[in-house]
Amino acid sequence: MTCTLCGTNTGTAYLCQWDTASLAKRLAELPILYAEMAECLVPRRTGWGDIIATHGAAGPSSPLNEDALDQLSSGHAAAVVHSWRVDVQRERWPQHAAPPPGGLAADSRWLAMEVDWIAAHYKAAGELAREIRALEAQARALVGDPVPKRKLIGQCIAVVGDEGKVCGADITHAAGESRLKCRTCHTVYEGQTDLLLLLHYQKEPA
Ligand SMILES: [Zn+2]
Ligand SMILES: [Zn+2]
Repeated sequence: MTCTLCGTNTGTAYLCQWDTASLAKRLAELPILYAEMAECLVPRRTGWGDIIATHGAAGPSSPLNEDALDQLSSGHAAAVVHSWRVDVQRERWPQHAAPPPGGLAADSRWLAMEVDWIAAHYKAAGELAREIRALEAQARALVGDPVPKRKLIGQCIAVVGDEGKVCGADITHAAGESRLKCRTCHTVYEGQTDLLLLLHYQKEPA
């Protein structure tokens, strides 16, 4: 047999090793990419640019594609990925009930874990890989390629728990964001006061 995508001889598999690996990589990156994209689309407020210098491409370089935005907001990617998960699971474990929508991250992770089985046994593997690639391309067209890098601002100064422990997780900023959010304790730093406090406490030992 040959790889559905590139025509390489694959023995008995539907996808070659290379295309299997890139499918796994895309599935791992897709939720991150869509999360970054949602953040990049937050309108920038004035004032932040003075404090945080943004490097490289600042968000979408071309006028926003309204259709793509609609698809984003309607959870198009999540719906597409979920439908593939349902189908793969039905093929592989026909006795199991269809899984409820798990969200883009959970469904992508599930598919990523099954990628070897998909490549070896799933007839629609090529079509699945193509659709995942299209979702990625659509997101990259909006955000720019590569995705703007997050810049490290410092460490989270929020007090977490009852013992006065400081969170200390890295706080990063991506072009276009109008606020900072700690991904560990979910503290939001918004407005100049918050930001100046955050920057101030970076200088002192925690
Ligand atoms: Zn291939
Ligand atoms: Zn934190």
